[in-house]
Amino acid sequence: MSEIKNNMNRREFFAEVGKIAGVAAIGSAVISSTVFAEERRRGSAPAAGTGAGAVGDKLSWPVVEPGKETAVAMAYHHTHADASKDKNTSKAEKTGVKWDDQKCKNCMFYTEAGKKKVKIGGSEKEVSVGACTIFPNKLVAADGICNSWSKKA
Ligand code: SF4
Repeated sequence: MSEIKNNMNRREFFAEVGKIAGVAAIGSAVISSTVFAEERRRGSAPAAGTGAGAVGDKLSWPVVEPGKETAVAMAYHHTHADASKDKNTSKAEKTGVKWDDQKCKNCMFYTEAGKKKVKIGGSEKEVSVGACTIFPNKLVAADGICNSWSKKA
């Protein structure tokens, strides 16, 4: 009789442990998905199923359009030739780097993504592009420039 009672207690114990583990697993999944959703909303997480930092994904992002939205405030341009015509472009030397040598590809905010066709000077050209933290989920040209350029460490 006491053995039956012990087995019952053991069964009840494992049933309780199972319930607690299940609740913990669900809670963990809910927290993870909530955090991930928040990261996605802020543009700092990759699309689901792509893995962290999937470069191919970034190439599907649109390219920043000079003269529109944030690009105006930042005086972003795909080339120095275009930037030099913008009255808002700062041509200041920064941390010992002349303006002519300041390019997205040597800016601390730039991460290379690959090659993509970009409309430059009225025609489409395949150029190197990358992600820039100043323009979330958009691409900039490797030879581009804006007023937020900062020397890559
Ligand atoms: S912050 Fe840097 S990478 Fe981004 S657009 Fe400006 S110069 Fe290019």
